[in-house]
Amino acid sequence: MRTAIIGGGIAGLAAAYELEQARRAGNKVEYTLFESRDRLGGSLSSEVVDGAVLERGPDSFLTEKPAAAELCRELGLGAELTPSNDADRKTYIVVRNRLVPLPDGLMFLIPTKLIPTALTRLFSLPTKIRMGLELLIPPRPTGLPDESVAALVERHFGRETVDRLADPLLSGIFGGDSAQLSARTVLPRLVEMEEEYGSLTRGMLAAHRKMRARMKDAAKARGAANGPAQTNSRPAMRSIFTAMRGGMNQLVDALVARLDPASVRLSTSVTGLEKSADGWTVVAGGKSEVYDAVILATPAWAAGELLGRIDPQLAVELRGIPYSSSITINLIYDETQLGHLPDGFGFLVPVVEGRSMLACTFVHRKFLGRTPPGKVVLRAFLGGMKNEALMAAPDEVLVATVRRELSEILGEKVLPQSAQPEYAQVSRWPRAMAQYAVGHQERMARIHPRVAALPGLKLAGNAYDGIGIPDCIRLGRKAAKELLATSF
Ligand SMILES: Cc1cc2nc3c(=O)[nH]c(=O)nc-3n(C[C@H](O)[C@H](O)[C@H](O)COP(=O)(O)OP(=O)(O)OC[C@H]3O[C@@H](n4cnc5c(N)ncnc54)[C@H](O)[C@@H]3O)c2cc1C
Repeated sequence: MRTAIIGGGIAGLAAAYELEQARRAGNKVEYTLFESRDRLGGSLSSEVVDGAVLERGPDSFLTEKPAAAELCRELGLGAELTPSNDADRKTYIVVRNRLVPLPDGLMFLIPTKLIPTALTRLFSLPTKIRMGLELLIPPRPTGLPDESVAALVERHFGRETVDRLADPLLSGIFGGDSAQLSARTVLPRLVEMEEEYGSLTRGMLAAHRKMRARMKDAAKARGAANGPAQTNSRPAMRSIFTAMRGGMNQLVDALVARLDPASVRLSTSVTGLEKSADGWTVVAGGKSEVYDAVILATPAWAAGELLGRIDPQLAVELRGIPYSSSITINLIYDETQLGHLPDGFGFLVPVVEGRSMLACTFVHRKFLGRTPPGKVVLRAFLGGMKNEALMAAPDEVLVATVRRELSEILGEKVLPQSAQPEYAQVSRWPRAMAQYAVGHQERMARIHPRVAALPGLKLAGNAYDGIGIPDCIRLGRKAAKELLATSF
């Protein structure tokens, strides 16, 4: 089987790795990985500058989704997995230029602890009263149409909760706008809870109780199996995020090292795709080649361009998946230039604050051992659906804007505007983050049968069933496995 993989981001690399494993196992498999840029990895890109690991794109992945850590272990990178420093985990929200910590007991946007919610400065008194009354909301009928995350949260907790909590938390993950993101896709557990309990707070508390009971039972079962000496042992807490000790390029480099170099074509955009009785004709670099199968691991808008002549309706659906652009700015400072940064991992900036920055991570705190002693690394995240114009601003303007906003938010004493970063790195990610807009699941239900009607075609990447690295790896490997399963 000859397969063309189009797009060498993490999804395409994971697919290529899976096919390479099958080839090495003696199966008749050939593949070509086409990547339009001069490097592989797509959004995954890191650099080590003066001993500091700087991530241009993603800095970590969610530990609870196993596909990424599993792949790292398979590649011999188990010892390089670095947990986030959760002992110091504290995140702030900027409210009128002041940093307000997220209240204790917040689960998936839902406040579950009375006293921290009552005392927080994040919400006004009317919002707090509304949060209390939320407990009385009755279950919602099932099967209602999808709605935006903003609409769901506003119905339960009011507009202020959307502006100060849902929007900043989601723009930190999707670079997205809660008024557009699909509640059913992005927060499916909350939609289910609403149908079962009505009140999301009651639903979350019930889920928490069930989880604790399950953990207790599991601990008891372990105790019974291990004998009395082990019964007091606590299950190890897992960190929320996992990073690579030397940066995301470690994962990319390890994958690339496993591939057959003759099968990888860098700086080669696929410009045309045709379906014929022989299979799939791929046009790239002025040449046409025929393959039995194609894994489209490009962003959905690029996949839509390539499929336009093969299935115009499928192309329309793929091009209809919105994308947002983002910018990351890493600044390295000598710690003598700064006052004491607030404890924690960093802060989120609600759009209503009217700033360019959406978030800032205190990198040296979030992952220990990746910044040299005496240095501070601040990473700002800009862009999102409401801020596309920033993409065109020159680097110097972006760096100056971030330095000014950091001083205004953290205070002159903590970060004087005169403090000069030793290094500043700007990275732009145009149309890189898919947005699961309202109706995403219905769109996917229209896309799946059309793809299934084109034998040998698979889609992989962040546009379909999970935005993060683990989901992209899972989908890339799954696409390759499905092709292997149908051809042998
Ligand atoms: C700034 C930023 C921060 C993020 N932070 C996190 C995080 O902390 N944790 C997390 O889990 N996820 C994070 N994400 C999301 C995650 O990184 C991405 O969703 C994921 O890497 C996307 O992988 P992909 O392979 O689907 O697409 P991409 O990485 O976009 O790769 C697609 C590739 O296809 C190539 N291509 C396009 N058209 C063609 C063509 N015609 N011919 C050949 N090649 C083509 C492109 O050049 C590109 O390399 C972040 C994303 C960004 C941008």
